Amino acid sequence: MSTETPLDLKKTVNLPKTGFSQKANLAQSEPARLEKWGKLDLYRLIRRAGEGRPKFIMHDGPPYANADIHLGTAMNKILKDTIVKSRTMMGYDTPYVPGYDCHGLPIETHVEKALEKKGKKKADLSVETFRRICREHAENALKSQTRDFKRLGILGEWDNPYLTMSNHYEAETARMFARFVERGWVYKGARPVYWCIKDQTALAEAEVEYHQHTSPSVYVKFPLQSDPASIDPALAGRKVFVLIWTTTPWTLPANLGIAVHPDFEYSAFEHGDEVYIVASDLVESVAAKCNVGDTPPKVLARFQGSKLDRLEARHAWLDRPSLLMVGEHVTLGGEADAETELDVSEAEKKADSKAGTGCVHTAPGHGHDDFVIGKRYGLEIYCPVDNAGRFTSEVEHFAGQRVFDANDVIVEFMRERGVLLFSEKYDHRYPHCWRCKNPVIFRATPQWFIAMDQAHRDLVEKDEDGRDRSNYTDNLPETPEASLRGAALAEIERVNWIPAWGVDRMRNMLKGRPDWCVSRQRVWGVSIPVFYCSRCTEAVADPAVINYVADIFERESGDAWYTHDAKDLLPPDYTCNGCGEQEWTKETDILDVWFDSGTSSVAVLENREELRWPADVYIEGGDQFRGWFNSSLMIGIAAHDRAPYKTVITHGWTLDAQGRAMHKSAGNAVEPDEVIRQSGAEIIRLWCVSSNYFDDMRASDEILQRVTDSYRKLRNTARFALGNLEGFDPASDSVPVEEMEEIDRWALAELNRVVARVLAAYETYEFHNVFQALYQFATVTLSARYFDIIKDRLYTFAPRNKARRSAQTVLLQIGDALARMLGPILVFTADEIWENLPKRMEPSIHLALLPAAGEGRDEALLAEWEQLYAVRDDVLRALEEARVAKLIGSSLGAKVRLEASGSTLELLQRHQNDLRYLFIVSQVELGNAKDGAGVSITISVADGKKCERCWNYSTRVGESDRYPTVCERCVAALDEIEQEG
Ligand SMILES: [Zn+2]
Ligand SMILES: [Zn+2]
Ligand SMILES: [Zn+2]
Repeated sequence: MSTETPLDLKKTVNLPKTGFSQKANLAQSEPARLEKWGKLDLYRLIRRAGEGRPKFIMHDGPPYANADIHLGTAMNKILKDTIVKSRTMMGYDTPYVPGYDCHGLPIETHVEKALEKKGKKKADLSVETFRRICREHAENALKSQTRDFKRLGILGEWDNPYLTMSNHYEAETARMFARFVERGWVYKGARPVYWCIKDQTALAEAEVEYHQHTSPSVYVKFPLQSDPASIDPALAGRKVFVLIWTTTPWTLPANLGIAVHPDFEYSAFEHGDEVYIVASDLVESVAAKCNVGDTPPKVLARFQGSKLDRLEARHAWLDRPSLLMVGEHVTLGGEADAETELDVSEAEKKADSKAGTGCVHTAPGHGHDDFVIGKRYGLEIYCPVDNAGRFTSEVEHFAGQRVFDANDVIVEFMRERGVLLFSEKYDHRYPHCWRCKNPVIFRATPQWFIAMDQAHRDLVEKDEDGRDRSNYTDNLPETPEASLRGAALAEIERVNWIPAWGVDRMRNMLKGRPDWCVSRQRVWGVSIPVFYCSRCTEAVADPAVINYVADIFERESGDAWYTHDAKDLLPPDYTCNGCGEQEWTKETDILDVWFDSGTSSVAVLENREELRWPADVYIEGGDQFRGWFNSSLMIGIAAHDRAPYKTVITHGWTLDAQGRAMHKSAGNAVEPDEVIRQSGAEIIRLWCVSSNYFDDMRASDEILQRVTDSYRKLRNTARFALGNLEGFDPASDSVPVEEMEEIDRWALAELNRVVARVLAAYETYEFHNVFQALYQFATVTLSARYFDIIKDRLYTFAPRNKARRSAQTVLLQIGDALARMLGPILVFTADEIWENLPKRMEPSIHLALLPAAGEGRDEALLAEWEQLYAVRDDVLRALEEARVAKLIGSSLGAKVRLEASGSTLELLQRHQNDLRYLFIVSQVELGNAKDGAGVSITISVADGKKCERCWNYSTRVGESDRYPTVCERCVAALDEIEQEG
């Protein structure tokens, strides 16, 4: 025994010590860490580390470069980053090239408004100047978005993102258009498309939103001109009318026909001296609603709809025929199923026809079905409405009126004429412009289309007036796969959709969608590189010419279309095939922005060395089924007859706590920058993974507070591990598994189990399961069990004692694995944990890999300890009761007596030495229970005195002269410490 002065007891206790602070201070520490990453050039280091590993490509759907980011944008990018970081840590080379969608109407409208504020008009500026202002606006917006995305801890090619407005991208967009032309899928024609009369442009399917709208619902009489006896002899000599129903009276001046279903039964019923034809199933409801006919209505004849085929009615008030036609699209109602709800217009048609007559008013210039059946029956695609939504001069009675204003005027007009049977207000979901929120109309104008069902080259033809006219027919190709729709439908079956319903949604969308209208009457975009002969108006949409123009775009940007004359954009001496003329005019329309963004798979994946086509995964919100998922698929098929993605993931929307959409104006919006300022980006990131992102995600201050609490628990768990690794050198101090204490081996087995769970969840993109597994592990397995139990060993044993080293060996593995598993989620904190671990290899967690799935997991050990923890739960409850009854103070003041029998007793006897640590008491006695079942627990005051150093009670306190206030365990520990010096 040493003769030196005894040690100061307090200094011999190993209290936790770490640079990893309890308080996170994320709002300050995150920017500092970002700066550090910048200095390291971390993204480059990751790229270099990934060289030679298998590639994994997550292709970024470009956010629109207009406004600041909101919570939804933040969530989208965080999920993408989590995919990129987790795949990187799974051992893939996972480059991330972010993109921005730069062209389009929202920026144009924004710039127009800004000009208006300055008292300027778009028309006063040259197109080049206007486009320059749009470009500057997009540049500023994408700069601030980039700053915000980087602040969220998202690593990527921020210095070199892809921009749909870059020269190269614009050239590639034009080249893709050439590709569609080459495949014979492009035509110009008049087909009804969504049209915004405020913005005066065609709109894509993805550019309309459905909102409630009140329309006049009208029942109108169309007199039958053909001999009614040809339908049924009973009708001979009668005044017969076909009753139609519509909620868009303004389309009635364009009525050219009435459609009935060939297989439905129709009835002719009497009303005074008139006879009305409606579908038999609707006779009673129509008669009651319009207050016509007897009760019950007197039916004169019943017949198949096909009997009416090609008979002729007269327009309700115009001196013009209205052709009776048969079509399968006519319905009598029936509930729309959930899948068709995706295409609301389809669902509406069904619901509407329930309220209707079974005789469908048909205006081929104002509806998709109307157009299709009108084409089949050779009707004109008649659309007497101008760009601003006014009736043209050829519309008798209503010329010059705006269509929505004309609705009521037409209703009154019909009432006066005696052709209106009934009208009422009708609430329904109606398409509105995504930009200006006004109701849109369906309007046929000359537009460029990509044909969904066309297998053959069938471009622009002219009508007898020499104007461009679609030669479009409804001839389906012999092999459906040869058409865009057929190929797309086949391809989506090969894609992995997460969640699985994605494929149904995509299939429904594809089956129902009309030809893709790709022209827009706007200027901020990629011009449709087509020329018209000045003399014969021959249109030149020639792939070679388009590619020639694309090369000019590559050099000078798409502005070249506006800064050069047509002849400078065409190959030298280009001559009209039709008439030999060399004077040309340029197309003024631009391409749909969805065509732009859809081109990204080709323009980006194929053009950057580090990427490849197709992508492994696309992830976006559900609105992209009609948007980017769709346009990307179209482009993929045109380019390579393949989908550009192997897996498509759909995430939900961000909603408030009550499940409502967030709006700044409603005051329920959670602003990312505010959360970052107050709590840190890490809290938004953790929120993104803490619930299932396949569903809608709710956020509010209260919800984020709960996330912050979870964060604190995870942080404290990591801190305990780090704090007890002070001075631990893994190389010399690690204890081999077989020499570890049993409870340490148990903790290791639990760690291996959670690692396996987390790896599986990352593999399947189920980040909420990663969070759940880690949170459970941190709060229950570690904090409530393991850490509590090993504290005594860590604090009071001699620093180099093997039992203490055994626990530390496991703590290091836990800290190391936690950092790695949290790496893709808590990107700042995991890096901080990593920094505070002893002797880590890589300079950042983001250069490390996920932990390997634990091998040799000892299932028997896990099962045995599960039993011990069940006993522990009972003992802790009994201790709590004893404490409340003031029998004991802290649990160390207690002695526990357990009585059991059989295998339970054997189990307890086998772990006799562990039990006092397991229960955190000073003494445990075991006894034989008299009757077999269960464990009986008796708590009493511990024997002996309290040790000053470890606070355990022992009858042997005072045995040492040198340290008279400590127990025999502490005497041994102090001996060890003194010998070690
Ligand atoms: Zn609009
Ligand atoms: Zn010509
Ligand atoms: Zn002691």
